[in-house]
Amino acid sequence: MHVLISGGGIGGLTAALALQKRGHQVTVLEQSHQLNEVGAGLQISPNGMQVFEALGVGARVEKDAFRPRAQELRWGKGGGRILTVPLRDVARDRWGCEYLHVHRADLIDALGGALRDRAPDAVRLGCSVASFTQDETSITAMLDTGERITGDLLVGADGIHSAIRTQMIGPDRPRYTGNVAWRAVVPVSELGQHAPPETASVWVGSRRHAVTYRLRRGSLANLVGVVECKERHIESWSATGAREQALKDFKGWSPVIRTILEKAETLNRWALYDRDPLETWVDGRAVLLGDACHPMLPFLAQGAVMAIEDAFVLARLVSTHSDVAEALKAYEAERKPRTSRVQAGARRNATLFHRADPISKMMTYGPIWLAGQFMPAFAHGQYDWIYSHDVTTVPQAGN
Ligand SMILES: Cc1cc2nc3c(=O)[nH]c(=O)nc-3n(C[C@H](O)[C@H](O)[C@H](O)COP(=O)(O)OP(=O)(O)OC[C@H]3O[C@@H](n4cnc5c(N)ncnc54)[C@H](O)[C@@H]3O)c2cc1C
Repeated sequence: MHVLISGGGIGGLTAALALQKRGHQVTVLEQSHQLNEVGAGLQISPNGMQVFEALGVGARVEKDAFRPRAQELRWGKGGGRILTVPLRDVARDRWGCEYLHVHRADLIDALGGALRDRAPDAVRLGCSVASFTQDETSITAMLDTGERITGDLLVGADGIHSAIRTQMIGPDRPRYTGNVAWRAVVPVSELGQHAPPETASVWVGSRRHAVTYRLRRGSLANLVGVVECKERHIESWSATGAREQALKDFKGWSPVIRTILEKAETLNRWALYDRDPLETWVDGRAVLLGDACHPMLPFLAQGAVMAIEDAFVLARLVSTHSDVAEALKAYEAERKPRTSRVQAGARRNATLFHRADPISKMMTYGPIWLAGQFMPAFAHGQYDWIYSHDVTTVPQAGN
């Protein structure tokens, strides 16, 4: 088949690699004039790395990544540890692959580079897909320039504000969650004794939490700080906020968090909106993938990883079904229960990290601390359903 992919982000490029590996011709239509990503980090759990290894890009993705020692839950103000879940020495044995922290730009470089080596003309930059038309045998993507490109299948991997989704099911109705996310990346060399630990750490506090981790072989510190905020903000990677506000939001917090906020060249501010699972991901020969069909809150660090899983499954099913409609139906049936469960899990974590009064803090973090002390396997077990899911082997019904 000739597959058109709208969007050359993490999901679109992974889909292109997976489809190309199965012998399909792919054309990625990316609106930007270069393959690029925002300057921020991404946690790639073993279920995502399984896909990269199966596509032969694992080593490229790992090259500049960082392998965190553990996942931790810490108090935002004092910095003391509530829970530690070892990752570095455990991930491959328990979940089959590494758990990595990557810089988004490095990941796009790795995926784009591999695709360029295998199919040099696959990516077309500066191509914004405005709409599509289709008949029984083909589908045509219409660019905003008026150009038309025809193929057998159109994959909408065009992210949270997807034009393909809007044409399929109408305008999106996101709910503001009342949270904004600060994000910053700072060289570790600028943080002195307040560099964040070599772990994926969630720092909890009253109506706010922060996540810190290392990128680029440990040389960069990544921060996401989520704060409850009544006033609505925009959902955009490029929106910024004022340093005084960020420092006010994390007043009295650990110097690890405050030093990153003080040293960051830019502080971005992304408003967190929530959405329910869509009724359908398919319209004839058009199909959605990644944030275009299941955008989720970042509290399980699984949005990009779900797009990566989607890409592999879609390529497998369109290659093993002779009928496109059957293949897309099977794709939606396999993926929707899994992504809806992850979406719901991420939503639950939003409140877990923001306990405000002492009793609810004790009721929430007390049992977590006890489990970490006396039942370490319990902590790992909490993540098994997410990280052990391997879409590159057998399809897993019910997950
Ligand atoms: C604060 C924060 C932290 C996060 N942390 C993690 C994490 O640690 N781990 C994780 O797995 N996920 C994380 N996520 C989620 C993750 O960022 C997204 O789920 C992921 O980027 C989705 O990938 P995608 O390819 O579906 O969409 P995108 O990354 O949005 O890519 C879409 C692409 O389509 C292009 N495009 C858009 N419209 C058009 C058009 N009309 N025509 C052509 N091209 C178009 C865009 O330019 C872009 O390149 C986080 C999200 C947030 C907000």
